Amino acid sequence: MSTGVEHVERTAVAVSAKALGKRYRAKWALRGCAFDLPAGRVAALVGANGAGKTTLMTVLAGLLDADEGSARAVGRVAFVSQEKPAYRHFTATEVLRLGARLNVVWDQARALRWLARFEVPLDEACGRLSGGQQAQVAFALAVGSRPDVLMLDEPLANLDPLARREVTAELLGEVARTGMTVLLSTHVVAELAGVADHLLLLAHGRLLAGGDLDELLAGHVSYTGPRSDTPPALGEVVLARHHDNQSTFLVRLPEGQPRPAVAGRWVERPVTLEDYVLGQLEATRGDAERKGAGA
Ligand code: ATP
Repeated sequence: MSTGVEHVERTAVAVSAKALGKRYRAKWALRGCAFDLPAGRVAALVGANGAGKTTLMTVLAGLLDADEGSARAVGRVAFVSQEKPAYRHFTATEVLRLGARLNVVWDQARALRWLARFEVPLDEACGRLSGGQQAQVAFALAVGSRPDVLMLDEPLANLDPLARREVTAELLGEVARTGMTVLLSTHVVAELAGVADHLLLLAHGRLLAGGDLDELLAGHVSYTGPRSDTPPALGEVVLARHHDNQSTFLVRLPEGQPRPAVAGRWVERPVTLEDYVLGQLEATRGDAERKGAGA
């Protein structure tokens, strides 16, 4: 369902957070979170279970109040929660009729196109549709509200591999057609390559990294070579892995300096989205374990 009724002029920043914090009783689920998400981007929100992704989206969508700082999304916001509320006794046609009534702006053709694209039966009660088809009804309802910002919590979770690819392709098509901004949380990082162009990486309620995906990846490199305590070139070690006689380092390259050349038995590899995310998360897990052990 879309929230916010005024149409606000599209600006360069679609979603922003400043020193954002949210706690449940005494426990902070989100703390010191600050970022600007430019309009027209597809941003991936990733992080381990319990990192704070759902909390962040819920606060950004205005469904939960922040305890600290501020959050802002420009224009109409549509949020599809992880549970994807199914109106069990309603058919897809009736769900769209409800969408037309509840939303100030409604694009029936756009919602119907989404359902047709995924071959969702229009006259079957939602309770009799598969989990994936029910998710498609929730997506159709969201895109029908013509959001400026579409937030999707785990949109790929119930979908088969082909449907995942088709949903991400369809989302990209919607972004290209309308210029809307998409923020989606997911654990299926490998399938975001070529889809997301912006990354927000959460760990333990804090924003570990955020920004343009190409820039983040270009700013890192992976080195593999003979077992060593240090990488073969300058840079901040994000993660070191050692196996028998071999070491691998995920390194943040020094800014404003030419890319260092490595020689000898070292092999340099560009960093993929999956390498980057998993490396960052593994590094924070190591930190948490060391802290837990009192180191
Ligand atoms: P997942 O990937 O498992 O969906 P997440 O990154 O979306 O996790 P959140 O659901 O935002 O994480 O939870 C962040 C933290 O806040 C967790 O420690 C969780 O236990 C806590 N939390 C979330 N919702 C509540 C709630 N309603 N009451 C109390 N604590 C909560």
